Amino acid sequence: MKKLVVLTGAGISAESGIRTFRDSDGLWHDYDIMEVASPEGWRRDPKLVLNFYNERRRGLYEAKPNAAHLTLAEADEEFDVHIITQNIDDLHERAGSTKVLHLHGELKKARSTADPSLIYDIEGTELNWGDKCELGSQLRPHIVWFGEAVPAMSEAAEIAHSADVFAVVGSSLVVYPAAALVQFVPSSTPVFVVDPKEVAVPSWREITFIRDKATRGVPKMLEAIRNLS
Ligand code: NAD
Repeated sequence: MKKLVVLTGAGISAESGIRTFRDSDGLWHDYDIMEVASPEGWRRDPKLVLNFYNERRRGLYEAKPNAAHLTLAEADEEFDVHIITQNIDDLHERAGSTKVLHLHGELKKARSTADPSLIYDIEGTELNWGDKCELGSQLRPHIVWFGEAVPAMSEAAEIAHSADVFAVVGSSLVVYPAAALVQFVPSSTPVFVVDPKEVAVPSWREITFIRDKATRGVPKMLEAIRNLS
């Protein structure tokens, strides 16, 4: 079975009604990134940060996996599919994908501000000021903010390095270190990119572009992978 590694970004969830960051209707048009997604923002106004993620969580409960998530989950029968996602939503899991690595954390989880190894499922949609871990410290969203380390990166790099086929779906590839994952993919491994817009891929790499939305582009990509010699 071919090992198919798929790096997904906000674009794969766009057709489920979850806004991306950088498109014209993206979240950063309404919010200052450093106020709601950085350690400095958290120190300045934790309630604003908690409200921002509570709002995202409420939206996530209303969203459903779309045909792109579902098609990748079904592809498990044909390929050894490993999803590495920059998304904080759980739409890959809800679609049925079994190997999903979250690079930037998970919206439905909280973690202790005293001990990052203490991670909890959030019951319902709200995480509030005053919600504490078992050590008595405030809980924060289990999200990797701008300027923070990405603990899952070395595992992701190993997965990318062992790919027989590598794909990027719905990511502008401007957020590092996730965007650097392509560099770990062996030079003989075919790389596909599914995105309706231009993506910042390394110029030295041969890439098959499928310029389409994820729901149409993912089935097209799988067809092209089946036809690889
Ligand atoms: P990004 O906003 O930088 O880029 C989104 C990409 O998706 C763009 O290239 C855009 O052209 C493409 N796109 C838009 N609609 C699409 C569609 N229907 N099908 C396929 N592609 C489409 O997002 P990014 O590269 O993932 O990186 C930014 C950060 O965004 C990540 O850290 C991630 O945590 C965060 N984010 C996650 C979610 C989520 O969990 N769903 C939502 C917003 C932002």
